[in-house]
Amino acid sequence: MPRTDAVLADPRLEGMAERLGRGVVKDAVGRAQERVRRGEIEPEDVADAALAALPAHAATIRPVINMTGVLLHTNLGRAPLSAAAVDAAVAAAGATDVEFDLATGVRARRGRGAMEALARAVPAAEAVHVVNNNAAALVLVATVLAAGREIVISRGELVEIGDGFRIPDLLVSTGARLREVGTTNRTSLADYRDAVGPDTGFVLKVHPSNFRVEGFTGSVEVAELTGLGVPVVSDIGSGLLEREPLLPDEPDAASALKAGADLVTASGDKLLGGPQAGLLLGRRDLVERCRRHPLARALRVDKLTLAALEATLRGPATPVHRALHADPAVLHRRARAMAEAMAAAGIEAKAVPSQATVGGGGAPGVTLPSAAVSLPEGLAAPLRTGDLPVVGRVEGGRLLLDLRTLPPDRDGEVVKTVIAVSG
Ligand SMILES: *Cc1c(COP(=O)(O)O)cnc(C)c1O
Repeated sequence: MPRTDAVLADPRLEGMAERLGRGVVKDAVGRAQERVRRGEIEPEDVADAALAALPAHAATIRPVINMTGVLLHTNLGRAPLSAAAVDAAVAAAGATDVEFDLATGVRARRGRGAMEALARAVPAAEAVHVVNNNAAALVLVATVLAAGREIVISRGELVEIGDGFRIPDLLVSTGARLREVGTTNRTSLADYRDAVGPDTGFVLKVHPSNFRVEGFTGSVEVAELTGLGVPVVSDIGSGLLEREPLLPDEPDAASALKAGADLVTASGDKLLGGPQAGLLLGRRDLVERCRRHPLARALRVDKLTLAALEATLRGPATPVHRALHADPAVLHRRARAMAEAMAAAGIEAKAVPSQATVGGGGAPGVTLPSAAVSLPEGLAAPLRTGDLPVVGRVEGGRLLLDLRTLPPDRDGEVVKTVIAVSG
C-alpha cells in the first residue's frame, strides 16, 4: 500500500489540495487506499483514483437537478438563483463596499443597493429592510411592536411552516402573547374588533401558503382591518412583489400595502426567486424601529445575500418565474425529444403528461400542466446518487422527471446522465 504522504506529494494532488484543502484530498486518498484493500484497484493507481474521486468543491453541499416538478422545493434549497444573482454573489464574495461609501470613504448603510432595488420594485412601500428570512422578519416585528403585549391573529392562520416550526410558537418566543380570534374556518371583522384593545401590539394576517381550507369559510381582508386603530401586519409568505396573474389567490406586497397594511413581511427565496431573505416593507416609522432594534443586528443578512437579492430584483426573469410561465406545449416537445434520445440508447423511456406544483412556498392546491420523462422506478436511486444527482418523483411505480423545473439548457445533460447510470 502506498503511504498517504507519498501519494499526497503527487504534484496533481498537491495542486488540488491548494484548491480544495488538504483534508478533502486526504479523505479521497484514504478512500482510494480502501479500494486497493478491497482488490478493486492496483496500488500504483491510488493517486489517479483519488484524483478522479475528488469533489468539485471543498464543501459537501452538492448541486442537484430538480426534476420533481415542485418549483420551490424546500429540501432542494427553494428558489434556484438566476445567473445574474449567482454572478453578483460571486463578485461580492471578497472585500466589498457593502457597508462603505467609496466616494467619501466613510461607513454607509449596509446593503443600500439591495434596499434601493426593493424600494423601487415596490413604490407603495415608504421604507424597506431585509433580514435573514421571513421567520426573522416576523420575530423582529413581534419583538418591536408587541413584546409583552398582544398580537391579534385568526385561528385560521396559525400556520406550521414546515419541519415542526410553527408561526404561533415563533411569535410567542418573542414575549408577545397571542390573542387568537375566530375559528379554524371562519373569522369575522367583529372577532377582531372585540379582541383589539389597549394591550394590542398589532393585528397579524398570515397567508396560509401551504394549505387550503374549503367549504364553509370566511376570513377578513387587510383592507377591512385598517380601521381598528392598531397596526396591521401582513405576512404574505411567497414574496410576490406585485400581482401574478397565473396565481390569482397569491397575495403580493404592493396590493397588501395599497389595501392599507402598515407592514408586509415576505420571503426572498420563494416566488420572488431570490436568495433566502426576509423582506420588511411598509410605514417608515415602523420599518425604522425594526431596523434600529438591537435584535436587527442578530438577524442581519450577509453580503452574498444582499448582492444576490439586488441582482434578483434588478435582473432578468428568475428561473422560478420562467418555470412558472413555461409553455406546456414546449415542455411536451422537450420531454419527447429527451425520451427519444434515451430510448435510442435502449432505455425504457417515454414522454407523459404531468402536473407540477409551486410547492410549500406558495399557491397550495394550484397545479401547473407539465410534461415528464417516465422511466423505470429502479432508476430513481442511481440517478439520485450519481455524480450529478437528478431528483424526480416516483408516481404509480414509475420515475417521473418533470420538465417544468428543468432549465431548457440542461436537457442534454440530463439525457447523458440517465444513459450513464443505465449503462
Ligand atoms: C414560508 C413562510 C414563512 C417562513 O418564511 P422563511 O423565509 O422560510 O423564514 C412565514 N410565513 C409564511 C406565510 C410563509 O409562507
